[in-house]
Amino acid sequence: MDKPTRQFHVRIQEALNDPQIRANFRRAMDGLMTKRANMFPDPVELERLRDLGAAVRRNALAQLPELLERLEAKCAENGITVHWAESVDEANRIVLDICRRHSAKSVIKGKSMVSEEMELNHYLGEFGIEALEADLGEYIVQLAGQLPSHIVMPAIHMNTRQIAELFAEKLEGVGYIEDAEELTKVAREILRHKFFDADVGVSGVNFAVAETGSLVLIENEGNGRLTTTAPPVHVAVTGIEKVVENLEDVTPLLSLLPRSATGQNVTTYVNMISGPRRDGERDGPQEVHLLLLDNGRTRIHADPELRQTLQCIRCSACMNHCPVYARIGGHAYGTVYPGPIGEILMPQILGCEEVGALPGASSLCGACGEVCPVRIPIPKMLVRLRKEAVDNTGASPVKGGGAQRSFGEAATWKGWEKVHASPALYRLATRTATAMGGLPALGPLKTWASVREVPKPAAKTLHQRLEERGNSR
Ligand code: SF4
Repeated sequence: MDKPTRQFHVRIQEALNDPQIRANFRRAMDGLMTKRANMFPDPVELERLRDLGAAVRRNALAQLPELLERLEAKCAENGITVHWAESVDEANRIVLDICRRHSAKSVIKGKSMVSEEMELNHYLGEFGIEALEADLGEYIVQLAGQLPSHIVMPAIHMNTRQIAELFAEKLEGVGYIEDAEELTKVAREILRHKFFDADVGVSGVNFAVAETGSLVLIENEGNGRLTTTAPPVHVAVTGIEKVVENLEDVTPLLSLLPRSATGQNVTTYVNMISGPRRDGERDGPQEVHLLLLDNGRTRIHADPELRQTLQCIRCSACMNHCPVYARIGGHAYGTVYPGPIGEILMPQILGCEEVGALPGASSLCGACGEVCPVRIPIPKMLVRLRKEAVDNTGASPVKGGGAQRSFGEAATWKGWEKVHASPALYRLATRTATAMGGLPALGPLKTWASVREVPKPAAKTLHQRLEERGNSR
């Protein structure tokens, strides 16, 4: 077992041993599952909408290079400057350059998973630029010095008491207030001033429309709107896969995303950004930049099956319904994207050496695939990525493919194959196991057996019983 895998198992164990984590996630996931179910009372309408959502995303990915070029051209017409970054390092440098050109000292950020992928806050901090999260959940995890534990609700692992303790400890002049509304007020008061003091606003993008060069951004708190309009410069960061062809493609996705995520018909704010402030306008940034990050996505796109990973609209329904995620929570995964989507996306971005064990954290119950609004066959892809993680032929299209292969496991399966392909060996093996009363749980089997009942062979094999009854083979 390699080091990262071992760390993953340690984190899982720690999470399972923490009753508070388990209680917080169980309660939250039960609530989210109920809300989503209430949002889709008509199964026929739901399946029709999922077909539509999947078709929109597949269509966009089928013509990704062309759509990205159209998007760039349309954005340029609208006065949006487009930047391309192949890696997170390049992306961070681009944001830093923009900040430096404007002598920026402070950045205010709306919710953006891609900026988490870039570790942008940390990067800017190293150059003396303060990046402050404006989304309440992100603000809480930033104060706590943690990663988000959920892609839509970053602080879902904490309850009101824990947040009250955090605010009392970290915020000057704030006492212990165990009241969600009052805590929100405290954060709002602090953040409100920051929007107007910030030199640059950074946001994510839910969908980038090639037809019109518009950036669609949905949110509930209004921080996205303030981030993208109050500071003089707005930088939108997103993955290259977020492009859609037409404005009308956004409609089914806007219907599916909030209903699947938080059980809302529609989010409180739907922002459509189509350029900087025009002459005569009183509001809006003077500059808008769109940063398109690859970070392994082109490689994912090249494989027709793995490409489906890029259909994701980051709704979080797969993790909300995942029995593994509900028990271990987001931090146990140790990656920016946790849960089923993280299990299929992160090994492809970071590679199998680092996180090739992630696809193993699934019971393959199929719940994730059943709820995915854009029909990503997640269970099938988990199985494929498990195979890629141990494929040492050198032909794996996945970064670091084969890195999780262990000699012991490979030899065990080879032996298993040999025994099952030979009647003589099979008879010898079953008779030996029967005579010994079972196989000893040694080596890797010991871990397997620690949480399972090892099956005991019957006192006599089927062949022996048939022979005793005079039945010939
Ligand atoms: S994989 Fe599907 S269910 Fe999971 S976050 Fe993406 S769109 Fe939502």
